[in-house]
Amino acid sequence: MAPATTSPAPCADCAPSEGPVKHINGSNGVDKTHVGIANSVASKGVETQAEAPPTRFAMPFMNRDSNSNVANFKIIESTLREGEQFANAFFDTETKIKIAKALDAFGVDCIELTSPAASEQSRRDCEAICKLGLKAKVITHIRCHMDDARIAVETGVDGVDVVMGTSKFLREFSHGKDMTYITKAAIEVIEFVKSKGIEIRFSTEDSFRSDIVDLLSIYQAVDKVGVNRVGIADTIGIANPRQVYELTKMLRSVVKCDIEVHLHNDTGCAIANAYTALEAGATHIDTSVLGIGERNGITPLGALMARMYTEDREYVMGKYNLKMLRQIEELVAEAVQIQIPFNNYVTGYCAFTHKAGIHAKAILANPSTYEVLRPEDFGMTRYVNIGSRLVGWNAVKSRAEQLGLELSDEHIKIVTAKIKALADVREQTIDDVDQLLREFEQQL
Ligand SMILES: [Zn+2]
Repeated sequence: MAPATTSPAPCADCAPSEGPVKHINGSNGVDKTHVGIANSVASKGVETQAEAPPTRFAMPFMNRDSNSNVANFKIIESTLREGEQFANAFFDTETKIKIAKALDAFGVDCIELTSPAASEQSRRDCEAICKLGLKAKVITHIRCHMDDARIAVETGVDGVDVVMGTSKFLREFSHGKDMTYITKAAIEVIEFVKSKGIEIRFSTEDSFRSDIVDLLSIYQAVDKVGVNRVGIADTIGIANPRQVYELTKMLRSVVKCDIEVHLHNDTGCAIANAYTALEAGATHIDTSVLGIGERNGITPLGALMARMYTEDREYVMGKYNLKMLRQIEELVAEAVQIQIPFNNYVTGYCAFTHKAGIHAKAILANPSTYEVLRPEDFGMTRYVNIGSRLVGWNAVKSRAEQLGLELSDEHIKIVTAKIKALADVREQTIDDVDQLLREFEQQL
């Protein structure tokens, strides 16, 4: 049992378990209105930390698909490729190396880099990252073209991701090639890259607006020549979870190789689509930190972690260093000059903050009542906002215990009524509440 603390726990945004202390939502002043309750819960002798959550959280009676990879998936982290296409992104070599090392320490399976054919500096950066000796595979993303493939294989990468547009829009308005040409070009590049002992993926672009017969025939053709993975790309963010499920399932039945999905978030489905792709048999999910990418980006790494944690906590926690998530997001946010959104998955400043009195009471008794993610698994802390008109006396009691004040339940209820009255005029800070509690005790 942990002892009660005598000072307020810092705000979730100011107290990462690792990395530098940094307040990123300064104007919100949340460090003044939130209070950590983990210690106070422990001090009450409620064994809230001992109970392990179930491996699967929701509707465990539902069977998983036989092809499901929700408990056995890999991440292709594309912050240094897709993320470089984000409006604000400009990564110098030093920043790219920092991000690559952080993602490697986090445990992603592959790190995808901008094509070395894009520019001379991109080629040099690709070589530099290959030389870091990371545990993650370093792969690069190129056009389905022999010129690009020749440059890529010389950089030292472990893998090459090639992409070719197959939708009628891209065939008519972008590269202007027919399916026979596309298939021939794909096979030539695949055979060349494989001959160098390097892993290769072939992806179509804008897959969901491509002809299904064209798609399946090209995937089958590349599977036959030994491609390591085929990729489905929702390049424009048009697909919904059911469509992703159906296409992935269909593809799973016609190829033997791994299946990667790349899902844009234009219509808000990128996370759900990643999940349903895994349910249908996809093996690899493309992510980027904070979801940054072309337009409004792709499946965010943190969000995918949260989603998959609820499916198989053991797998996710055993493979990925979840406590680094916040540090990696801050690194990337700073590099591209953005703030982490207030409602970000896991690390948003209110992700583990409880406000309503009824919620606070239940959380104090058992955090699982209103939390599907355990904040401590992600290096975060839960908080109860005790300075609002919605506060309940249980939360105020916990705060009094943290401060080492001896107040009866009746006294606590009187102070709670006072807080509510004051908070009807303006939200109270933690200092305001502390002062009220202390003054009340002194007057007894
Ligand atoms: Zn993309």
